[in-house]
Amino acid sequence: MAQIIDGKMISTMIKDECRNKAEALKEQGREVCLAVIQVGCDPASSVYVNNKKKACAYIGINSLSYELKEETTQEELMKLINELNGRKDVNGILVQLPLPGHIDENAIIKAIDPKKDVDGFHPQSVGALCIGQPGFVSCTPAGIIELLKRSGVTICGKRCVIIGRSNIVGKPMALLMLRENATVTVAHSRTENLREVCRQADILIVAMGKPRYIDASYVKEGAVVIDVGIHRNEDNKLCGDVDFESVSPVASAITPVPGGVGPMTIAMLMKNCVESIELQ
Ligand code: NAD
Repeated sequence: MAQIIDGKMISTMIKDECRNKAEALKEQGREVCLAVIQVGCDPASSVYVNNKKKACAYIGINSLSYELKEETTQEELMKLINELNGRKDVNGILVQLPLPGHIDENAIIKAIDPKKDVDGFHPQSVGALCIGQPGFVSCTPAGIIELLKRSGVTICGKRCVIIGRSNIVGKPMALLMLRENATVTVAHSRTENLREVCRQADILIVAMGKPRYIDASYVKEGAVVIDVGIHRNEDNKLCGDVDFESVSPVASAITPVPGGVGPMTIAMLMKNCVESIELQ
């Protein structure tokens, strides 16, 4: 049976490290502050935003909350971001995605000062990651690296297959695994023979957005399997992209859903927030 990689426990460790850092900064008279912007009232976004505010409170950093109405124009949102970019007391700016259809998400992401881009979505942050320069890294893939390292999984030299090539998970994940000296393959919806490609992996990272798609037939005996997917099944229970019951007897280590990758995303956001003060 596979080792269960405990994201809840590891994320708490990271949040506690952040809390200690925030406390030390406070003693020097420096307070960390995150501005969180939500446009409209999509219920899933409201849950994420609330969790982020709770995490700020736990760590002891200030959070400013902007809950804007659905009809907010791109110009109004831009104006707010410019204001926050200029404020010395604001270290991080987070715009909860997705934005309503009438707002150009890319333009909004680009408007955030890269020094305050704690989500790591700004083209400058992504470019820095690509050429190995310092900058904020997208929280979910950064969290997966922490999960692997803190669970004692060797990455250097291993074959890693990532399923998914999205801008927020798959692509930055590939760059991070490359930075850790893995041999990386990115599979996607047009990949031929997905099963055979996956069976090559020592580390299989699944971010395809398809509930319980990956069963044991996709997994090499002894592989480490990281499940990024989050879905509600027919019983309203959370499940991932990986069929946990089928895969866990074959894998050497596996992340559960819930309690695997999910909690790491917020922990890494908090880490980025605490580090953002050093850039300003
Ligand atoms: P996305 O929809 O943007 O991308 C999915 C990717 O999977 C695409 O690149 C696509 O090419 C690939 N794909 C789809 N079907 C495929 C198939 N049959 N074979 C091979 N590849 C296929 O999704 P995303 O934003 O990257 O998120 C992926 C999953 O992770 C979702 O379930 C999402 O909810 C979850 N997620 C979780 C967290 C977290 O904090 N745990 C964060 C972000 C996303």
